[in-house]
Amino acid sequence: MIAQLSRLDELAVVSGRPRFEEKLHVGRPNIGDRAALMGRIEDMLDRLWLTNNGPLVQEFEARLADYLGVEHVICMCNATVALEIAIRALGLTGEVIVPSFTFVATAHALQWQEITPVFCDVDPASHNLDPRQVERLITPRTSGIIGVHVWGRPCAIEELSEIAARRNLKLMFDAAHAFGNSYGGQMIGGFGAVEIFSFHATKFFNTFEGGAVATNDAELATKIRLMKNFGFAGYDNVIYIGTNGKMSEVSAAMGLTSLESVDTFIAANKRNHHAYRRGLAGLPGVQVIAYDDGERCNYQYMIVEVDEAAAGISRDDLVRVLHAENVMARRYFYPGCHEMEPYRSYFPHSHLLLPETEKLTQRVMSLPSGTAVGPDEIGPICEIIRAAVENPDALRPYLAAADGRH
Ligand SMILES: *Cc1c(COP(=O)(O)O)cnc(C)c1O
Repeated sequence: MIAQLSRLDELAVVSGRPRFEEKLHVGRPNIGDRAALMGRIEDMLDRLWLTNNGPLVQEFEARLADYLGVEHVICMCNATVALEIAIRALGLTGEVIVPSFTFVATAHALQWQEITPVFCDVDPASHNLDPRQVERLITPRTSGIIGVHVWGRPCAIEELSEIAARRNLKLMFDAAHAFGNSYGGQMIGGFGAVEIFSFHATKFFNTFEGGAVATNDAELATKIRLMKNFGFAGYDNVIYIGTNGKMSEVSAAMGLTSLESVDTFIAANKRNHHAYRRGLAGLPGVQVIAYDDGERCNYQYMIVEVDEAAAGISRDDLVRVLHAENVMARRYFYPGCHEMEPYRSYFPHSHLLLPETEKLTQRVMSLPSGTAVGPDEIGPICEIIRAAVENPDALRPYLAAADGRH
């Protein structure tokens, strides 16, 4: 009992002294070889070719196509614009079925072009679209399905492909989390009509800002290339409606450099994942989500599900405990897209149709990983979580006080 209390005293919600002096963030950028990056940037400056399908973008696209085992990769300024363009190039209209348990960009990319995102519930085991629910939401206005490989774990690709084929719907994937991952031994990027990656600075593989579309459909690739460059087919020759989705050369320089270190980044994530797994083993109500070790996986998201009934402490309180220690755990995805505007106003009753999504938005948190943290941080983070879960009653008054301060 005394030992437990002394550990409780060590928690910052009690003592006011955080375990970490500097904040540990989720999604700190991974940076590759600086000299290689600077070399590419120097060459770029010498060339005076900063954007508009320069040599670095061309090289990056070729390397990505090779890495992903797909025929066409089109780099873009970010994944949201890549989603918007892919949606438009695929000719989606009316209603499109998407999960609510995703980053809001998946829904916004539809609504931005006045296509209605129809939110579908997820499978609580995979956190991904539940194919049986998808089938029930199809109406005469439905034109497509966008699956999201949440945390990089592949969607029910086969079931969704079967439904899309049988009901004559387009299928695409938001693969923003799944760069470097495989399904059935085949790299994510080649499934559905098109898959979209994000290379935002908070993703484990970044180009500062950036994204890419991957497809094996040559016609679609041509359309997407036109759309991301104002519809220019050549000098002074616009043959299509387009926007500006181009990736700049400096982003491609970062991308090429990141690609050279991608295995190192993944190894750090994997090491961290297993360190958390060991550190949190056996804690009631605290479950680290598992990845399939038989597939290629980037392990970028360190996701924990907190079952308040079993843990004795809610996810939100655990996040409070961690924030007091300067461990900036994040509630993900919180709230669900259906609870954000404009969807909340458009579909005020959708939460009734999304019970599993609602539960997950209350249970899931993301912990710091990537090259910015290692065993020296993860050990203490796990001790903090363990101390909180082992003393929920004693902590309650302190949490109420901490809540008042936030
Ligand atoms: C990050 C993310 C996006 C948006 O990517 P950007 O490159 O920031 O536009 C879209 N969907 C999901 C699931 C994401 O995590």
